[in-house]
Amino acid sequence: MTLPLLRGQKALVTGANSGIGKSTAIALGRAGADVVVNYVAGPEDAEAVVKEIESFGVRAYAAQADVSDEDQVDEMFAHMVSEFGTIDVLVANAGLQRDASVTDMTLAQWQKVIDVNLTGQFLCARAAAKEFLRRGLVPEVSRCVGKIICMSSVHQIIPWAGHVNYASSKGGVLMMMQTLAQELAPHGIRVNAVAPGAIKTPINRDAWSSPQAEAELLKLIPYRRVGEPDDIANAVTVMASDLMDYVVGSTLFVDGGMTLFPGFATGG
Ligand code: NAD
Repeated sequence: MTLPLLRGQKALVTGANSGIGKSTAIALGRAGADVVVNYVAGPEDAEAVVKEIESFGVRAYAAQADVSDEDQVDEMFAHMVSEFGTIDVLVANAGLQRDASVTDMTLAQWQKVIDVNLTGQFLCARAAAKEFLRRGLVPEVSRCVGKIICMSSVHQIIPWAGHVNYASSKGGVLMMMQTLAQELAPHGIRVNAVAPGAIKTPINRDAWSSPQAEAELLKLIPYRRVGEPDDIANAVTVMASDLMDYVVGSTLFVDGGMTLFPGFATGG
């Protein structure tokens, strides 16, 4: 059964063959959108996501592109316009970690994370914005010209020792998102972010896959539950819909309260 929230809309989700991106692509399809499933490696996983989305009676296809490569990103968007006619929703989700203490972190580790997590979102947002502006408003599809949702993290505001590249990339995503929102809102384009807390995906398997690790993690989560990819997918789906039409330049934290300074719960 499809929900009509995004009926007739065309969405692209980056990094959509795993974790949060996979759940989000499926949720957008379930809400009635046609979906491009971007991936960089693992075509079988991407095809499985496509199949699941098609089961809702909407269209989907897998598109290989490295989001940090300008030519590949522009080609992916050009192909989407030729296949689907346009794009209404971009979920800039692809991301990775290359963890090390600052003294051990190589320039390559720093650069890779900035290239994928920050530059990759910029390249995709730029390509989407160009298409939104070319196409203009189609009132029977959506109240707004286009939606960009940046996948951020609680680490856009929480410093994270041993992860200076990742935290810096997400801090950059916050300011990029707000600046794009300010620049594009007069054109009827909504740019927002969803900021997950700890979600069970391959990116952070060590943090939740053993009972001891999960118990440690739960100390940071007032709601005492590690998140699931669907928690984020549901938030993105609503953020992409006209139910959130007046939400511009905001970050929606979906984190079980991780950003509530849980260490202060007992006095501080
Ligand atoms: P994941 O590893 O399951 O998924 C990441 C996806 O990004 C994968 O499909 C991967 O192939 C893809 N990717 C990596 N480099 C790419 C590239 N160059 N081009 C295209 N795709 C690329 O991890 P996830 O947890 O689902 O992460 C998704 C997003 O959520 C990331 O931006 C991550 O920073 C963010 N996030 C995750 C958590 C969490 O707890 N899992 C918390 C906060 C934020």
